[in-house]
Amino acid sequence: MAERRPLIAGNWKMNGLIASADVFDAIVHGVAERADYADALICPPATLLFGFGERSRETSVVVGAQDCHPAESGAHTGDLSAEMIAETGAQAVIVGHSERRADHGETDAMVRAKAEAARRAGLVAIICIGETLEERDAGRAVAVATTQLAGSTPDAATPETVVIAYEPVWAIGTGRTATPTDIAEIHGALREALRERFGAEGEAFRILYGGSVKPGNAAEIFAVPNVDGALIGGASLKAEDFLAIYDAAG
Ligand code: PEP
Repeated sequence: MAERRPLIAGNWKMNGLIASADVFDAIVHGVAERADYADALICPPATLLFGFGERSRETSVVVGAQDCHPAESGAHTGDLSAEMIAETGAQAVIVGHSERRADHGETDAMVRAKAEAARRAGLVAIICIGETLEERDAGRAVAVATTQLAGSTPDAATPETVVIAYEPVWAIGTGRTATPTDIAEIHGALREALRERFGAEGEAFRILYGGSVKPGNAAEIFAVPNVDGALIGGASLKAEDFLAIYDAAG
């Protein structure tokens, strides 16, 4: 995976109660026991951010949120600002996940504004992009992914403050994964687009793959050029699965 340090990120989505701290603790301990070959990030529901942040203090596992509002504060019932998230001890936030794009009508412009808010608050933004099955079948996968990348990524993005996650919508939670050839094509096109826009720095951005990553397929996916780790949904809810995927990055 070149000189880019892999990032293994778990997105717990709307799963997890306070009792799930046991799973989080097992991940923290498992990562601590292992060689330091990748960054580890867990994004629990917002209710658990503060508690997990406290539990992971002095460890190398980082905690992140799953969304933020672009504004710093204001009349936005039910939303959380990036500043509020940062105050919990979280250090990252996922923006533009396809479930939010679909369920909440989030556009590239909104996702970009959220990524800018993350930067303002000192959080790393994990910017998600990816095509639907209809778009792939129509031969538009590369065009959709690169258009979303262009529209969702702030001009001020740097490899330290932004991570890209390519997640084909049809592979999320379905048990279907893109083939290594599919992944190589999209990640290669994304790398090229990052180089065109950010110059040599474009080489240093991490591009994660997401979509039914499991212990059984992680090593094959991580061997694909320009895959710098994974964004994991379902398999991140079990410590042993998350850790097995972490091991595959080593
Ligand atoms: C995700 O939602 O980001 C995801 C990749 O989910 P899963 O691993 O369950 O497909």
